[in-house]
Amino acid sequence: MVASQIAAGEVIERPASVVKELVENALDAGATRVRVELEQGGTELIRVTDDGSGIPETELPLAVTAHATSKIETTADLDRIATMGFRGEALASIASVARVEIRSRARAAAAGAELAIAGDVADLRARADESGPRYTIAPASGPVGTRITVRNLFFATPARRKFLKTPQTERGRCLDALRDLALAHPAIGFALVSEGRQTLDLPPDQTLRARALAVLGPELEPQLIEVHADEHAGDHEGGRGLTLWGLVGTPAIARATASHQRLFVNGRAVRDRAIQHALKEAFRGLMDPSRHPTAALVIEMTPEAVDVNVHPAKAEVRFRDSGFVHSVVRAAVKRALLDADLTPTALGPLPPPESPSAPGPAASARDWSPLPGTGRAPSSLGSAPGFFDRPVPAPGRRLDFASLQSALQPDPLPNDVPPSGTVHGGSAHDALGPEERVLRPDPLAGVLQVHDAYLLAEDDQGVVIIDQHALHERVMFEMISARLASGNLETQRLLVPETLDVAESQLERLSQLAPLLERIGVEAEPIAPAGPGRTPVVAIHAFPSFLFEKRVDPAGFLRDLIDLAEARGLVPSQEEALREVVDMMSCKAAVKAGDRLTPPELARLLELREEVERSSSCPHGRPTSIRLTLTDLEKLFHRR
Ligand code: ADP
Ligand code: MG
Repeated sequence: MVASQIAAGEVIERPASVVKELVENALDAGATRVRVELEQGGTELIRVTDDGSGIPETELPLAVTAHATSKIETTADLDRIATMGFRGEALASIASVARVEIRSRARAAAAGAELAIAGDVADLRARADESGPRYTIAPASGPVGTRITVRNLFFATPARRKFLKTPQTERGRCLDALRDLALAHPAIGFALVSEGRQTLDLPPDQTLRARALAVLGPELEPQLIEVHADEHAGDHEGGRGLTLWGLVGTPAIARATASHQRLFVNGRAVRDRAIQHALKEAFRGLMDPSRHPTAALVIEMTPEAVDVNVHPAKAEVRFRDSGFVHSVVRAAVKRALLDADLTPTALGPLPPPESPSAPGPAASARDWSPLPGTGRAPSSLGSAPGFFDRPVPAPGRRLDFASLQSALQPDPLPNDVPPSGTVHGGSAHDALGPEERVLRPDPLAGVLQVHDAYLLAEDDQGVVIIDQHALHERVMFEMISARLASGNLETQRLLVPETLDVAESQLERLSQLAPLLERIGVEAEPIAPAGPGRTPVVAIHAFPSFLFEKRVDPAGFLRDLIDLAEARGLVPSQEEALREVVDMMSCKAAVKAGDRLTPPELARLLELREEVERSSSCPHGRPTSIRLTLTDLEKLFHRR
């Protein structure tokens, strides 16, 4: 009984829940504009004004009266009214824990009226159970629509009030709730005024894209990628079908938590782990795996395929076929990422045209602003801080591969014939005059390897600087992942097993790693059991062919893998563990900083970049390339 009430009801537990209830009522009343005012993050005052149908004077008392008597008997305690909430009784619940005034004028009415709840704490407590609150009604002037003011939330219930966080935190939650509502209703205008300052102003009749940009922060536009999917798998029982539209942020604006992901299913803001996971999967290899992409995703599907009423407070959904939703979202986001050119520019994106040198747009935008150093205009062209502040990717490796250093020599790339025109000094270029080259540049022309670590190349937007190790590591990562997924990771049996000594304690670690080793095609077993004064020895019988080709030493590889497992406490069954190992394999198989590349190798690497690398970060999330656009160059040389 109580459980079903919780499942069905709405929850008044903090200012944000009041904002949500009041705004939803305004939307129900057909409002085209909704204005929310907050004082002290809503703990002192929440006021929602709409231009909806209004409430006739005679019905004002009904709005704050709990109509369904069966529910009221369980609400003897005001604290419980606050925590449980009730379907169809949001206003009554709010009126029992705060001072409420409703001023309204119905469309047909000549004048409006204002209802105010009267009474002190004791009075509220006494009346909550039976008769409902005492109120006064007086005539009031005002436009058609409703203005509801909620003051001193939980004033009668100090226990509840104590649970409120600082006004700043509560304000943030109210803003979040309003953003969700605004994204779900792009046709409605929304404004938020907090402590007398307007922090959100969204005009009515926006397109979904315009609304999403306005809510996420217009200055992020260069960092947002549009995602689409329209999947209708036909007559599957239950009418399986899904339409997806969304914006996802580039890795540069990824966040430490998933809180900057907005998900909407059939018009309702929800949280869903399957979708969160699908997003993460789509960004796999493009982003530091501990970070979460920024996203706003709007999903429409047949109502039978989804239950959004699982828990209104947490707004979780239950999909009939969550595997289907997962795969559609993952594929759509992945496709969009591959199509996008994620190469970061050296000076960062240009400021939005509306705010040429403004210190920052509204607070709404700032809350969503990217990590320091991105999404920001250079403050002084002369010193070009964006460029020089940017961390230079370290050419070093995450693990210590001392044992491999000597084994790894150049020539790790397949020696394919280079496509003409992509190599410096290539004959194709000589045939072109210099003017022609400027007018019709090759995708990546005129490659130069500098300090045996970076590649400089020209493309149609400017100059691209590539970290050769990071890029090749990323290429390897994609290759290994693809082969693992398709079961095509070939293994080579060793004629003479490679051996390595391990510590006694590492034997157990090795047996834990067995399933993981099997998946990547490493066959290893202890041969000499430990005895007094004897070190256990492990023999490697088989090893992935491509690592072999890259001259990766099997014994060193296994030792590093055991060390990694120890350092990270990897559990072999976890996907994460496999990912770590693929990372490690990619890193080992890749060319290193310090490797001199031959022209055909350079050409091949750039060709591979075209294939995998519209996206531009290595598996560890560091950038693989940075672009210095022509505009950047003009700024650096004070031409603009
Ligand atoms: P519910 O929305 O589930 O009906 P509420 O307690 O939220 O329950 O609201 C009670 C009633 O008050 C609504 O059914 C509606 O008739 C009226 N009401 C509340 N807010 C507004 C508003 N902003 N405009 C018009 N009517 C409203
Ligand atoms: Mg309501």
